[in-house]
Amino acid sequence: MPKKKSAFDRYTWIVTELVIGIAALGYGLFGIIDRPTSSNYFFIILICSGSILLLVSIIQIVMMRKKKIDKFCSKCGEKIKKEDDFCPKCGEKIG
Ligand SMILES: [Zn+2]
Repeated sequence: MPKKKSAFDRYTWIVTELVIGIAALGYGLFGIIDRPTSSNYFFIILICSGSILLLVSIIQIVMMRKKKIDKFCSKCGEKIKKEDDFCPKCGEKIG
């Protein structure tokens, strides 16, 4: 039986992305506010990468929430994934 990637691992990864994204965005913004006259490519790069990380983690959260809407087998009541055509427990066709 293949080891299933647990939802907790994915959640931890998304939270890490979110925290790094917010930190990079915040640090970049404060850096630009702090010294608006000097060349601040470093902070601009920080803001860009921070926003991308935030966006990616938000998309992942939305995708995870969509996947959580499960169906149940009408015969045995087993939880069925959205993409499954047959019940993994009793083999009943899902329609
Ligand atoms: Zn079933």
